[in-house]
Amino acid sequence: MSESGKIIDGKAFATTLRERLAVDVARLLGEHGLVPGLAVVLVGEDPASQVYVRNKGRETVAAGMESFEHRLPATTGQAELLALVERLNRDPKVNGILVQLPLPKQIDPQAVINAIDPDKDVDGFHVVNAGRLATGGRGLVPCTPLGCLLLLRDRLGDLSGKRAIVLGRSNIVGKPMALLLLGESCTVTLAHSRTSDLAAECRRAEIVVAAVGKPEMVRGDWIAPGATVIDVGINRIELPGGKTRLVGDVAFAEALPHAGAITPVPGGVGPMTIACLLKNTLTATCRQRGIALKD
Ligand code: NAP
Repeated sequence: MSESGKIIDGKAFATTLRERLAVDVARLLGEHGLVPGLAVVLVGEDPASQVYVRNKGRETVAAGMESFEHRLPATTGQAELLALVERLNRDPKVNGILVQLPLPKQIDPQAVINAIDPDKDVDGFHVVNAGRLATGGRGLVPCTPLGCLLLLRDRLGDLSGKRAIVLGRSNIVGKPMALLLLGESCTVTLAHSRTSDLAAECRRAEIVVAAVGKPEMVRGDWIAPGATVIDVGINRIELPGGKTRLVGDVAFAEALPHAGAITPVPGGVGPMTIACLLKNTLTATCRQRGIALKD
């Protein structure tokens, strides 16, 4: 395959997914008179979070859904935030709730996440949704790993029997990713900072998902010939002269000749995250109303 044919275009895939979702949303309105609503809560003025929240709001509206933004000051206490979450849980116009992380230090993020109605938890971080994923139940799945899975299925078709390695065991990416791949009947290795000989573990894998947050840690010779590489990492590095550049957790140029397919950074996994948030919001709406949704 040509080198360019190996590149998994997450941006194009996410655009197509958002367009398909917009069609489903229009049908939901036409057939059931329903408009899915997504509430996003931002506490404080973290600049990156402000950009994420703005983008989420814009994409939500573009897909034909309703966006409810709640911006609270950095001094907000936990009780006040929990009271807002409770109101959103009860609001029938709100089908999905997302509390943007990180939260200011006076607030326990897990307490807030676990206060969200699990059926409105479109981030999939609630302990009930983590449990559903772990036990093979029908829950809401964290957006980034869900996006990775959609890219893998699109490129490889049936994943059953494939040897997969996930680098990183965070609750928001690594662990749910490993469980999703297990659900696809992959043989899964979940690696982390204490894994011995990570390079050798990687070389055995037909699927490599890197989510470590270490710029270009995965080298080209860690990749088995023809393996599919999904790079979740988003790392901003400084270049000589003071400029900066985004790189993934995989040394892309080195890995490209070895890989059968690979996601770039930017333009790979990143754009899938918001598209999957919208997908989860639609899924949550349909389930709350008992409407069957084709996958
Ligand atoms: P995290 O919570 O910091 O977890 C990092 C994981 O990597 C940990 O499990 C850690 O192992 C492991 N790790 C760290 N150094 C390692 C090493 N040298 N060898 C092997 N494993 C190592 O990070 P995260 O939230 O999962 O995010 C991971 C990356 O994905 C970050 O770059 C983040 O920016 C990116 N991200 C992207 C998106 C997106 O939309 N594309 C979304 C979320 C995150 P231990 O558990 O042993 O410490």
